[in-house]
Amino acid sequence: MSLITITNEIDLFEFFKSISPADVRECAEPRVYRKGKEYHEFDNVSEAFANQDKTIVTATVKGTTDYKVTITKKEIRVYGSCTCGKIEICKHVVSVLLYGIHDRAFILHPENEMQEQE
Ligand SMILES: [Zn+2]
Repeated sequence: MSLITITNEIDLFEFFKSISPADVRECAEPRVYRKGKEYHEFDNVSEAFANQDKTIVTATVKGTTDYKVTITKKEIRVYGSCTCGKIEICKHVVSVLLYGIHDRAFILHPENEMQEQE
């Protein structure tokens, strides 16, 4: 998991409302941001879920293959992780952050059973 930023918001839904694409751009390399923005614009983000507490969201991002992105809020810290294995913030995480800002269409998981990912 890599630290994306810190927030004073109570959950990730409020966090997404509080940030702008410019904030996301500051978290990633310019090239990574551009690619992530393209992924979002071309609707590569799907199957977006959130837990009941809205402290974990997951989404599938279509790339070379399907990647699973997890955004986790722990106290004031917001972390991102992705199955592509990059240590720094990757284009898939960027695309899910932009999805959170623009679309925010997360399906609430019926139970708090979503797993955090390393
Ligand atoms: Zn990735």
